[in-house]
Amino acid sequence: MPIDFHRKAEHQILPEEQQYLYFKMLEEQLKMIFTTERLRTMPNWPFTKEDGSKCTAEKLAEAGFYCPNPQEDPGSLCCFLCQKELDGWEPMDDPMEEHRSHNARCKFVKMGFRDSEDMTVKEYMKLSKDISRLKLDEMEQRILKEHRSATEKDAEELRNFIEPNRSDC
Ligand SMILES: [Zn+2]
Repeated sequence: MPIDFHRKAEHQILPEEQQYLYFKMLEEQLKMIFTTERLRTMPNWPFTKEDGSKCTAEKLAEAGFYCPNPQEDPGSLCCFLCQKELDGWEPMDDPMEEHRSHNARCKFVKMGFRDSEDMTVKEYMKLSKDISRLKLDEMEQRILKEHRSATEKDAEELRNFIEPNRSDC
């Protein structure tokens, strides 16, 4: 039985529903540039100003953090830009200090945790570009990985097809 490699290769290019998921993911990520959107991901954050905590949801959002998975992992927060993930937060942690000490090279840290309200259009465009590039790299790595394993499978099939016939030559 001959193998139609051309047809298979065409089929492996990113399916539409997957493309849609990636764009959705990028859209969600871009929203996190806004402090209010980041704050919205931490509705039940346990430490508040009223109980004297420094590590409040407001301060975390201002420091660039949001919660990627509020339902399943509400304690694990991530920087919207450098993607640094931190958990085990304590009431007296200073979110900006923590961000700085875990990744001083983050561009958001370097631009002094500028609030989205005070950003210039140029700064906003720059951040959007960085985030898009990051997500596209991630997507590319995933596609390459999937493509590689599919190619390995094709090579395996080809080997199995050729090798039994080799002794005939
Ligand atoms: Zn960061």
